[in-house]
Amino acid sequence: MTRYWAARALLPDGVATGVVFDCGHDGRLTAVRPGADAAPADATALGGIVLPGLVDAHSHAFHRALRGRAGGGDFWAWRTEMYALVDRLDPERLVTLAAAAFGELVLAGVTTVHEFHYLHQPTGMDDAVCEAARRAGIRLVLLDTCYLRAGFEGESLDPVQRRFSDGDVERWATRAEKVAADNPDVTVGAAAHSVRAVDPASLGAVAAWARARDAPFHLHLSEQPAENEACLAATGRTPARLAHDHGVLGPLTTAVHCTHVTAADVALLGESGTAACLCPTTERDLADGIGPAAALAAAGCPLRVGSDSHAVADLFEEARAIEMDERLATGRRGLHPPEALLAAATAGAALRPGEPADLCAVGLDGVRPAGADPDDPVPMLMAAVTAADVTDVVVAGRHVVRNGAHAAMDVAAELRAAVTAVR
Ligand SMILES: [Zn+2]
Repeated sequence: MTRYWAARALLPDGVATGVVFDCGHDGRLTAVRPGADAAPADATALGGIVLPGLVDAHSHAFHRALRGRAGGGDFWAWRTEMYALVDRLDPERLVTLAAAAFGELVLAGVTTVHEFHYLHQPTGMDDAVCEAARRAGIRLVLLDTCYLRAGFEGESLDPVQRRFSDGDVERWATRAEKVAADNPDVTVGAAAHSVRAVDPASLGAVAAWARARDAPFHLHLSEQPAENEACLAATGRTPARLAHDHGVLGPLTTAVHCTHVTAADVALLGESGTAACLCPTTERDLADGIGPAAALAAAGCPLRVGSDSHAVADLFEEARAIEMDERLATGRRGLHPPEALLAAATAGAALRPGEPADLCAVGLDGVRPAGADPDDPVPMLMAAVTAADVTDVVVAGRHVVRNGAHAAMDVAAELRAAVTAVR
């Protein structure tokens, strides 16, 4: 059993003071008790405001090596650069790059990452991602991604895309099951890369595989107008309608981006309880557009955020941008309450017994949050706090980040080395 004491913590009923957290050997909270004026002798004291650990609902860790590289053109030009990076990745380079990228996420308060992992060849790439998460001390949900075709017309895969493909959905399932068996400490879910890269029958099969395991299922949805146009031309349906008609929407499903969805798509996603994951810093970096987050939330979609291409690794910024981007697009303020934005960044997590012992402590003494109401800090957190204000992070009861430093890695040095190695 490990014990922490928080001067202030955000509990399900609001901010409480003097909170003792007991963490069990299974990585879950066994007790949460407010009202202790001082830290017990056997507890580690955490300052600032302690939040549930942040949840990155959409990551491609290796894209971190593309950050800050001058890029022109559109999304498809960026994709060409990304494919050139894939060409330089083997399991050894992937494990160091992904570990460093995950290390940056932990420093930013992220305790769980959903890695949308589609780079399966050569053998060893899947285990490399699992090993990277262990090195960084982050909880991993490995979304084993099915990728079978280059487009709706059955275009053949190019040499880079062949590294994503298992050939057919049966071989995808066999490999995913082996990944899960070989990495029992990892939650293995499923993903279909997109309606472009997976045919409708296989799409339904991948989602059914996840459902049978009560595991999450994700897919990229309507990130680009070109995907919508190609889907309409080939099937007469939008991507969301196609997904709906093949039974893949529902509470275990997360649709990523939803940038160019129609009003009818929003209704389908909302009625089914499908979560919508927005990745605003990547969407702006790739000139994707602004998704209708307020409409999605109003329709019934839980909102999530993802670092996606790791253009920025800061879920406070991702959540803030949901609101700010829609202000720019609509001319209206306050479409999302601060509490709703924080819920997107934590995937609705709550600090109560039985829940994961994952904590994110944010300092309130720095310049950005200065002036915050310590008893109601969420509006300030969502207005101005950044990843740099995270002081301590606990994952499954383990103190992974202390006073702003990772306990096991020099993250900046490892990022420099890993990025240089693949350039
Ligand atoms: Zn993505």
